[in-house]
Amino acid sequence: MPLYKRILSYLAPHSRLIFVAIVATAIFAVLDATVYVLLIPFMETLFVRGLTASTPVDSGMARLLDATVYRWVDVGGNPLSAIGSIIVLILLVFAAKNLFHFLRVYLLARAEQGFNRDVRNSVYSRLVDLDLGFFGRVRTGQIVSRLTTEVEQVRTLVISEFSSVVSAMLEFSAALVAMLLISWKLTTAAFLVIPAAMVFWGPLVKVLRRRDRRVQHLGGEVNAHILETLSGIRLVKSASAESRERERFEKLTGDYFYQFMRAEFTRALAAPVTEMLAATGTVVLLWYGARLVIEGDVTGAQFVGFLGLSMKLYSPVKRIAKFPATAQPGLVAAERIFEFLDAPVEIRDSPEAASLKSIEREISFENISFSYRDGDPAIDRVSFCVPKASMLALVGPSGSGKSTIVDLLGRFFEVADGRITIDGIDIRSIRLADLRALIGIVSQETVLFHDTVFANIAYGSTDTEQRSIEAAARAAHAHEFICGLPNGYKTFVGERGFQLSGGQRQRIAIARALLRDPPILILDEATSALDTGSERVIQGAIKKLVDGRTVFVIAHRLSTVQSADQILVMDKGRIVGRGTHASLVAESGLYRQLYELQFQDTGISGNLWVSWRSNSSSNIWGSVWYV
Ligand code: ADP
Repeated sequence: MPLYKRILSYLAPHSRLIFVAIVATAIFAVLDATVYVLLIPFMETLFVRGLTASTPVDSGMARLLDATVYRWVDVGGNPLSAIGSIIVLILLVFAAKNLFHFLRVYLLARAEQGFNRDVRNSVYSRLVDLDLGFFGRVRTGQIVSRLTTEVEQVRTLVISEFSSVVSAMLEFSAALVAMLLISWKLTTAAFLVIPAAMVFWGPLVKVLRRRDRRVQHLGGEVNAHILETLSGIRLVKSASAESRERERFEKLTGDYFYQFMRAEFTRALAAPVTEMLAATGTVVLLWYGARLVIEGDVTGAQFVGFLGLSMKLYSPVKRIAKFPATAQPGLVAAERIFEFLDAPVEIRDSPEAASLKSIEREISFENISFSYRDGDPAIDRVSFCVPKASMLALVGPSGSGKSTIVDLLGRFFEVADGRITIDGIDIRSIRLADLRALIGIVSQETVLFHDTVFANIAYGSTDTEQRSIEAAARAAHAHEFICGLPNGYKTFVGERGFQLSGGQRQRIAIARALLRDPPILILDEATSALDTGSERVIQGAIKKLVDGRTVFVIAHRLSTVQSADQILVMDKGRIVGRGTHASLVAESGLYRQLYELQFQDTGISGNLWVSWRSNSSSNIWGSVWYV
């Protein structure tokens, strides 16, 4: 669908409002022109008594005035009362004109905000539907920019700019009709300058469009940079990268400034050039009009009225001529928003997707391959089977594909080759909502929304009874500290749970998982060392959580690995070792090497991979084995 059509389709629900607004604008335009037309009887009344220089002229306007105003106002009679009547008429027209102006502005504002709401809702709705892969490709700042600034720009285009152009056209038409009624010759003269404006505008608009696109892209980059800095502020500080980030940011704002000024330069050129064209037109008109009056083609009063109307005309012409330029940011923004709305959602329910509410036997990965982009596979022909209620530990260096494995199980990404089955059913033929309801995730990156503790625990569950929430919190060893918060379960936690300690956040996440009670659990163990106290509490909570579930754990601790029923050692997307702790130690592979290194180390529950790394700087894995 062409861009304009698509933008207008969003206006359809508000078409009634807009229609009334346009009618109001049309009436406003006619009344606006009428004010100038009323100058004619006003002047003629003066001229009849004073400088009767004009001979009666038979123009369309003269006939129109005869049929209307002069029926009511006796120009030949008492001049003061005639002038009084005309002034009352002018006042009435002004009042009516402003009433319609008010109607127009108010109705358009309603349509405008309705449009804003609808576009934002559809962009947001798309946003939550999009595949996880999309968020890896597009920067968060760009997305935020689309939802805020750019929706705003499209709104400005569609309503403010567009309605301004429609109203300009109506004002233009009303003034034009009045002018033609006075004299077609004068009208032609007034229009001589318009084609000149057209020649000037074409190329300028193209340049502007290009420059505006650049400005908008940079605006998104600035946003993205701020967001990334905010989410990684700890890292920035701990790496003492403040000045580097400052420099990068200043480079971006500098670029933005430069590009913005370039676009603005072109835009600013538009006004003075149009103004000059208008001034030239007026001068030509004064000369030619004076000639026509002297030759007796129009009356002096009609010429004054005409001048008023033609001055009036330039403003709408200016607005119409400027429209292609002022519309550019909105059009570019619309393009970007539609690009976003059109991004395909690939992971969705197939038409024959079936329901699955529980797991009876096992989860099986059958010869799975997957890559994020063309090229290196992140997972390379991996097969394994996890029986119900058993625990699988995934171990291996960072980037070896552990998280990808569990993301594939939740269909956050789609396998490229092979299949994953639950009880023999391909997960692609299970309803997505059912599949995800089967899986609970507790990860080291605990997400808490800006809401109450209660709502954070209840997130994603159908059971929102106070009793159940409390029971889950108790089982997660979280009840006690929650009761100690200023408003207990009703305490708001920050956007990313900043007011709570890492351990407390994790316990809330565990309570959330316990409440949902999913048969499959994905556990991404924390790598960051918690203090021993909360470590023990969390281990206790996790024990309760894993009990009786089918568990995939991305394991960093020896204690977890030892208690796993099955361990997969991963490297570069492949399985390089598998078995139980005992069998892997018995083999002379990498796992055993790790185990021995671990024993030289002090703590038995320390971080497996960190200790491996610190002891293996001489081997080729060296720094790679860092989680
Ligand atoms: P692990 O969990 O073992 O650290 P991952 O599964 O996160 O490993 O990553 C496996 C490989 O896939 C790595 O090479 C990583 O760089 C790449 N990768 C992970 N996530 C993405 C993503 N969203 N986009 C592109 N590449 C990714």
